[in-house]
Amino acid sequence: MSKYDYLIVGGGLYGSTFAYKARQNGKKCLVIDRRTHLGGNIYCEKVEDINVHKYGAHIFHTSDKKIWDFVNSIVEFNRYTNSPVANYKGRLYNLPFNMNTFYQMWGVTTPELALSKIEEQKFEAVTWMKNKGIAVPRNLEEQALALIGRDMYETLVKGYTEKQWGRKCTELPAFIIRRIPVRFTFDNNYFNDPYQGIPKGGYNKLIDGLLFDIETKVNTDFLINRDYFKSIAETIVYTGPIDEYYDYCFGKLEYRTVSFENEVLECSNYQGNAVINYTEREVPYTRVIEHKHFEMFGSDIDKCPKTVITREYSTEWKEGLEPYYPLNDERNTLLYKKYKELAENENDIIFGGRLAEYKYYDMAPIIKAVFNYWK
Ligand code: FAD
Repeated sequence: MSKYDYLIVGGGLYGSTFAYKARQNGKKCLVIDRRTHLGGNIYCEKVEDINVHKYGAHIFHTSDKKIWDFVNSIVEFNRYTNSPVANYKGRLYNLPFNMNTFYQMWGVTTPELALSKIEEQKFEAVTWMKNKGIAVPRNLEEQALALIGRDMYETLVKGYTEKQWGRKCTELPAFIIRRIPVRFTFDNNYFNDPYQGIPKGGYNKLIDGLLFDIETKVNTDFLINRDYFKSIAETIVYTGPIDEYYDYCFGKLEYRTVSFENEVLECSNYQGNAVINYTEREVPYTRVIEHKHFEMFGSDIDKCPKTVITREYSTEWKEGLEPYYPLNDERNTLLYKKYKELAENENDIIFGGRLAEYKYYDMAPIIKAVFNYWK
């Protein structure tokens, strides 16, 4: 008789939600993680009494009421609304592209004026391409010009995208930008989902709630002791990197990553917003995150005399760095397919989550994936 029904490798959102559902269904679980903490990439570190999103800013958003009710049954969420601002050479523009952005860019005050300005800009860009004999956009730059015109592209898209991808927009494929959403309302809410927010007290509360009364072990690497761990459970739920599980037998899957530079500042409010994108190429970082704005609003901001900011640098992934964004190019897609075929032939192992499925997942879809298993 095995000691556990499930041995869950990884205490991130997938593993923790899985453990919660398993417990609800009367199953016994052990959750292990090789990091020093649980929570995976949504883990927050307390610095100066502020929850710092250690592995990148996380905003929970969903259109699925069932998922929203579920997370709120674990911990109450606040009313944070993601409304990023772009800084281009010291001038500020609201994102996503909406009437505020168009007013800041061109001084237009009505949807009709904004639309006609965009049409004029698009016409100029398309004419410029036609004159050069370009019928179909050949790269991201031409695609963006055709969709939004030169002012918006050069101010808000070009530099940021080049930093994100580490390549010039003229060297990036056009398909990366299929459409650029624009709104003709004064609405800075980044997401279209009806539900969004941050857990009150931070994401660790969500993880603590999911793992309540469940046995956990940190600093414990499954792969170092895999035979032992397999012997103590009926089923393994593996949420680590799939290529690593198979000792990279077909080669390594590649990622893009972000490196973070944190700083504590002796002021209560540095930039007045949680997220500011730096859209010019010459500024080396892509965003500055001011963490307190995720959870402190109004007069509470000044009650905490210090603030913590993080500068984010988009970086090519190499050994030792956190793998963040899977590369969906041909090499990596084919490589993942080979590993997936091995995984499909395994008995008593479930491969789930962003690393085991080599897939970018937002948090709500991660929960949905676990719900699908337990439905
Ligand atoms: P992880 O959180 O990575 O958890 C996997 C865990 O497995 C890790 O803790 C790891 O240590 C452990 N592990 C791996 N191998 C082993 C092993 N051999 N033994 C033991 N333990 C092991 N989503 C949103 O909805 N909104 C956002 O704003 C958002 N922002 C993001 C920003 C960034 C920079 C990134 C990269 C992602 C963002 N996401 C966001 C996505 C979100 O982070 C994921 O949906 C979520 O973290 C995935 O959870 P997971 O459990 O699959 O993976």
